[in-house]
Amino acid sequence: MQLPDVIGGNDEYLSHHCRHVRTDRSQNPTRDVYGVLARWCCNCKGRHTLPLYHEVIAISSEQISTDFLVIGAGVAGLRAAIELAQSGRVLVVAKDSLRESSSEYAQGGIAVALSDDDEVELHEQDTLNAGDGLCNRDAVRILVAEGPAAIQELIDWGVEFDRDGSKLLFAREGAHSRNRVLHSHGDSTGREIARTLYRKAASLPNISWISFAAIVDLLRCDDRVTGALALDERNRRWVDIQALGVLLATGGLGRVFLETTNPDVATGDGVAIAFRAGATISDIEFVQFHPTALHKEGAPRFLLSEALRGEGAYLLNAKGERFMERYHPMGELAPRDVVSRSIVEEARATGSPHVWLDLRHRGPGFVSRRFPRIYETCLSQGLDLEKEAAPVTPAAHYAMGGVWTDVDGRTTLPGLYAAGEVACTGVHGANRLASNSLLEGLVYGARAARSLASETASGSGLERPNFLVPQAGEIELRTLAWQKCGILRSAEGLHTAITVLQSLQWLDSSVLSRADCELRSIATVALLIARGAEARRESRGAHRRIDYPEKSASFERHSRIVQDTEEVSFL
Ligand SMILES: Cc1cc2nc3c(=O)[nH]c(=O)nc-3n(C[C@H](O)[C@H](O)[C@H](O)COP(=O)(O)OP(=O)(O)OC[C@H]3O[C@@H](n4cnc5c(N)ncnc54)[C@H](O)[C@@H]3O)c2cc1C
Repeated sequence: MQLPDVIGGNDEYLSHHCRHVRTDRSQNPTRDVYGVLARWCCNCKGRHTLPLYHEVIAISSEQISTDFLVIGAGVAGLRAAIELAQSGRVLVVAKDSLRESSSEYAQGGIAVALSDDDEVELHEQDTLNAGDGLCNRDAVRILVAEGPAAIQELIDWGVEFDRDGSKLLFAREGAHSRNRVLHSHGDSTGREIARTLYRKAASLPNISWISFAAIVDLLRCDDRVTGALALDERNRRWVDIQALGVLLATGGLGRVFLETTNPDVATGDGVAIAFRAGATISDIEFVQFHPTALHKEGAPRFLLSEALRGEGAYLLNAKGERFMERYHPMGELAPRDVVSRSIVEEARATGSPHVWLDLRHRGPGFVSRRFPRIYETCLSQGLDLEKEAAPVTPAAHYAMGGVWTDVDGRTTLPGLYAAGEVACTGVHGANRLASNSLLEGLVYGARAARSLASETASGSGLERPNFLVPQAGEIELRTLAWQKCGILRSAEGLHTAITVLQSLQWLDSSVLSRADCELRSIATVALLIARGAEARRESRGAHRRIDYPEKSASFERHSRIVQDTEEVSFL
């Protein structure tokens, strides 16, 4: 593949590109647009942007074989693929277009202890504090210690972090004791990182790609994972992908809940797939609810980044009063779970469905300059953040739990590895420190890949599972999860959720669709969350039980759920 000179950092280019540039993907269905290439055009003497294509393998047969299968093309999957390419053939599969991932939407930035007044130990301590007694200390130490090298590598590969002259600019976010969050193009950090990783990966001949293919289950031979089963959406058929080892990097599960900041792909597929195959799921009850999603009728719950509060935004109740100081000494910069619950309580007390986020006092030009993507998106919803406060409510945002792994990405199933948001190394404990997850994708994506690269065993199992689909509506399930397993939980609500979810009928489906696959994941993951939350009879981090409001020393342990066991265990 030809590498571009420059990759634009802004999607708007795609709609502004020159008319003589071909963009219709139907003209060549074996190509997929990933990014854009900015190039000088000698015809009209202007700078034009061209879609950046990569060759997509058209799935023409029912079987594909590779050395390493990476499921997911976000930061974790891309970083892993780059590492694995040194050791064999890598196939990266993504459910949607390669660019559609949470990584793409990460606004605030990436945390790293690199500024002059910062230290790895301080970053470690802040991460442990946010994790509320449940972090895996080894995993945290690895994250913060390997972080600076991971960032330097990104810079070497071409990521442009925002600078003041030649000095990197570090922003402050909630629960960080130092300014340590790097950002790019203001609020397009994830996009810049994902594109750079993609460009690097696309230059490596050992890596192939399939987009618009949903992995629905793992293939096994005895207890070993030997590949995965994909739903080829375009051709509406199953494809068996055989591999020496599989790395899950399918991201989060926000779309299990009605209100979420996550993109459509985040339906918890990786957790559901691994659980069905017999892997251990850990700490799944810990879901972070981002305090400030835009609350406008009919508009998606667009995230208004924590960095806005880092830059001085106030939270105001319906009476126009600041309230956060009444709930936490750090005020608007308190940990996310505290801010989310405070907003819920304040909105209830004032009888309003939302509170307000206000940055007007930073003056004209500030928001549009520092947060161009947020500013433009709000403007497109009829909201000028330089002139008006934004209505905000919490929404499901990030999964601290997931598929249990050790610090080298090994799950409990031989041949299966996991990294990024789908994995649970314990690095985030009961609550994630803001902007630690992009870093986690980089550090643990590379680590999981290194241990997978040493896989030598293989198999050719074809235990093809049945395709059972729950008989329920997606919105119905997501509403149940939001109401009963959301920010404030109780035994009563969780029992209701468990009863409803366990009594769902699952029927064999003759029609294949991605929506069916996602519905399966939503039903499975909602039940796992409800079971974990019901068993954890305490309040800790992002998990708040109104009937057990205190933290309990006897629950300073990680929850574990395995298929076919009734009990949630704590280790
Ligand atoms: C709006 C928003 C803002 C955020 N801001 C920040 C921030 O500022 N800083 C920070 O550190 N974190 C932030 N986060 C969190 C962070 O973006 C994610 O945790 C991180 O990007 C996850 O990376 P990942 O590689 O694990 O997964 P993702 O980037 O979500 O990638 C998942 C990939 O898996 C694929 N996939 C999913 N299911 C399947 C399937 N069944 N078959 C095949 N492929 C599948 C998807 O298509 C996608 O390619 C934010 C998240 C959101 C939603």
